[in-house]
Amino acid sequence: MIKTFDAIVIGAGQAGPSLAGRLTGAGMSVALIERKLIGGTCVNTGCTPTKTLIASAYAAQMARRASDYGLTIGGAVGVDMKRVKARKDAVSGNSRTGLETWLKRMANCTIYEGHARFETLHDVRVGEELLSADRIFLNVGGRALVPDMARLDQVNFLTNTSMLDLDVLPRHLVIVGGGYVALEFAQMYRRFGSEVTVVEKGPRLIQREDEEVSAAVQDILEAEGIRIRLRAECISFAQLGADIAVGVDCESGDREVVGSHVLLAVGRRPNTDDLGLERAGIETDKLGYIMVDDQLRTNVPGVWALGDCNGKGAFTHTSYNDFEIVAANLLDGDRRRVSDRLPAYALYVDPPLGRAGMTEAEARHFGKRILVGTRPMTRVARAIEKGETQGFIKIVVDADTQEILGAAILGVGGDEVVHGILDIMYAKVPYTTLQRAVHIHPTVSELIPTILAELKPRP
Ligand SMILES: Cc1cc2nc3c(=O)[nH]c(=O)nc-3n(C[C@H](O)[C@H](O)[C@H](O)COP(=O)(O)OP(=O)(O)OC[C@H]3O[C@@H](n4cnc5c(N)ncnc54)[C@H](O)[C@@H]3O)c2cc1C
Repeated sequence: MIKTFDAIVIGAGQAGPSLAGRLTGAGMSVALIERKLIGGTCVNTGCTPTKTLIASAYAAQMARRASDYGLTIGGAVGVDMKRVKARKDAVSGNSRTGLETWLKRMANCTIYEGHARFETLHDVRVGEELLSADRIFLNVGGRALVPDMARLDQVNFLTNTSMLDLDVLPRHLVIVGGGYVALEFAQMYRRFGSEVTVVEKGPRLIQREDEEVSAAVQDILEAEGIRIRLRAECISFAQLGADIAVGVDCESGDREVVGSHVLLAVGRRPNTDDLGLERAGIETDKLGYIMVDDQLRTNVPGVWALGDCNGKGAFTHTSYNDFEIVAANLLDGDRRRVSDRLPAYALYVDPPLGRAGMTEAEARHFGKRILVGTRPMTRVARAIEKGETQGFIKIVVDADTQEILGAAILGVGGDEVVHGILDIMYAKVPYTTLQRAVHIHPTVSELIPTILAELKPRP
């Protein structure tokens, strides 16, 4: 027998639960289907657990640096991985439980545990149940990409998900990939005490960033003893007893790195290959991302795609914003659009990198005439006082419109400070508005007006 609802939400990631809340609040009956853990990637295997672990790693690092601050610690700093993991599990688990409790108490919302798959345009199967609705919202997220690499199938490798189950310290963690997820794990495990090697096939780390940002992040990581192997063209794997050899045919250095553990962090892929999309006629692009318009409607009327699975964002805040856009259009008569969103994200190495808008390279690519302001963190009083002076601030301004195009803040508090710039970008006012603002002393933010007063043309 088919059970009919006003709406079906597939996936309890960062958009689905909030959307279920708004839809039921508007009087609709909703079926919310989740095949694994409520809260999806962010809560269970992404943001929350990694940032909790990073906090432990930061504490370890600061404890090691105690003497820099005039403190004495009686003996070496020890890291108890079981307790580190237990803390991570508690923070992540509390977040999931809170969300679960809210959803289970939500009037008019029925939760189905299981894998959802389209049978027809309006019908979705979950195990033995067949559910039907005129409105279907896909929030199925993504998973770690496991590409076809030489002999990868013959070794025990880890992904961001299995990595979070570890409660022992790898002797030598080899991380394949030089992107955001890879670097966060690299620094975290180095600080826990592992030997860490990062293997990247490209010429530099975090390649979407400006070259000077990549170089500064590399310096920060190398200064902590992380080995970085770039231009590793032909990456291959071989099990050597309990160890794994990673072939890294690089231009220089050894041709092989032997580690006790290998983490594969080479990107993400959308969870759209097992959803039966073809039966509903829903189009994807060649990478499997569901194609949507500016209001997140798919090519099939009555079906929307939100979050990582639509390829328009790859973050918790972009997924949540997708929920806001869909809810505003459907329920509030407010025609919010994805194209109103500005790129913004952070890389949570220490010090963090806060990013807003375009890089300098992107601004040039779009033919902008630009002004650039920079300042090393060694010239930021708050950073000096804190003893955390690595990194720099960089702001890119459009010389013609005077609007800020983008910023990179690699430095203590960079993930927070960047929001002052992001907000001015959303306000679409000239940079001079921010330049004349009087900020609090001593903060990292207080230097933003100063940097804007010292902008220089870049040819
Ligand atoms: C290691 C790591 C660290 C990260 N750190 C950050 C960070 O610091 N900040 C940030 O903004 N982003 C971060 N991200 C990205 C962030 O986690 C995602 O962008 C975010 O979770 C948004 O995902 P979503 O809402 O699209 O879906 P997800 O959170 O991926 O949830 C999708 C859900 O759908 C379920 N599902 C899939 N298919 C089906 C099906 N057929 N039937 C039923 N259920 C299904 C899945 O089980 C899952 O629970 C990180 C990601 C990783 C991997």
